[in-house]
Amino acid sequence: MEDRELFLKAKEVMPRAYAPFSGFKVGAALLSTDGRVFTGVNVENSSYGGTICAERGACMKAISEGAQKFEMIAIATSEDFAWPCGLCRQFLYEFAPDLKVIAGPDEDNLRTLTLKELLPEGFRL
Ligand SMILES: [Zn+2]
Repeated sequence: MEDRELFLKAKEVMPRAYAPFSGFKVGAALLSTDGRVFTGVNVENSSYGGTICAERGACMKAISEGAQKFEMIAIATSEDFAWPCGLCRQFLYEFAPDLKVIAGPDEDNLRTLTLKELLPEGFRL
């Protein structure tokens, strides 16, 4: 699967995010090594601390469906673009330290980094 195609899947689900507090909607599409795509959106909560990011939402969905190895994740936001937060970087590092991460304001201006570039010396047992 190409970067652009995965990003478009993230962009497609992004409007479904529940972000009444920040207004910052995020969609993520996580590609597993067996070719499946798992999407997620950020879900905010009145408690704030209960908020779950799109990247972790997609990963949770994948794990529950039996996928634990991943090649690439794409992230689309409602405002410009963003890389995964620190918590999500560590969360994804558990399963895919060599993950390819794609983000951009739109499918014609994508940027790519690896998870190791975003989280050097990530923690693993
Ligand atoms: Zn996050």
